[in-house]
Amino acid sequence: EPIIRFDKVNKWYGNDFHVLKDIDLNVAKGERIVICGPSGSGKSTLIRCINRLEEHQQGHLIVDGTELTDDIKAIDQVRKEVGMVFQQFNLFPHLTVLENLTLSPMWVGKMPKKEAEEKAMAQLERVRIANQAGKYPLQLSGGQQQRVAIARALCLTPKIMLFDEPTSALDPEMIKEVLDVMIELANQGITMICVTHEMGFAKAVADRVIFMDQGQIVEQNTPHEFFNNP
Ligand code: ADP
Ligand code: ADP
Repeated sequence: EPIIRFDKVNKWYGNDFHVLKDIDLNVAKGERIVICGPSGSGKSTLIRCINRLEEHQQGHLIVDGTELTDDIKAIDQVRKEVGMVFQQFNLFPHLTVLENLTLSPMWVGKMPKKEAEEKAMAQLERVRIANQAGKYPLQLSGGQQQRVAIARALCLTPKIMLFDEPTSALDPEMIKEVLDVMIELANQGITMICVTHEMGFAKAVADRVIFMDQGQIVEQNTPHEFFNNP
């Protein structure tokens, strides 16, 4: 049973812009997928449907056994299972690094403060940024901020992590520190879907590379096949 299943999923923006066309995609538990393709081909929209930041209009989308519909309970259920990291780090600038994790709306009030802080510190250690816990986001480099964003997503202990061009907003010298953290996560067996242009990362960790164009999946293969085909 796949952990994510797209079955003939279609989405339009407005009435006439057909952004996802008959998407069929099964993701196995623990699978690491990289999605690439030209700008505007629907990559971001596809992964945003998985945690219902966008909604599809046709077809079925099932995440960890729950079909995504308008049912708010189903949406909440799925959002507990799915962590997401964006191109822009989306940290709260007026909160410290630690507070960005402990005051995350997804889990605030769900456990005592001390327990939340311990959990948060453990995730900050996992991305090697625990020594910056008391700083404010803008006191950190872009690469450090993105690692905080990854730690925040991990606080939910998600089964699935989605990355939407996580290194595209970073200066070149900071890309590696973020990719290294992502490679470590990949090696820990979490299901991952990454929209990225970092083909070195794809080669290093992807089980499957998916190429999108104009709202369709036009090719999918192992990195080996994908990069060696003429
Ligand atoms: P990619 O991630 O491959 O660059 P996106 O999924 O971000 O592609 O966008 C696909 C297309 O849909 C683009 O042409 C984009 O301008 C358009 N689009 C994205 N979001 C919206 C929206 N909220 N309303 C209308 N069009 C959108
Ligand atoms: P990215 O490629 O990083 O996803 P985009 O420029 O495609 O960035 O989108 C940035 C935001 O603007 C997204 O929330 C997207 O849904 C929205 N957006 C993109 N294109 C359109 C559009 N044509 N009309 C309305 N909203 C859009």
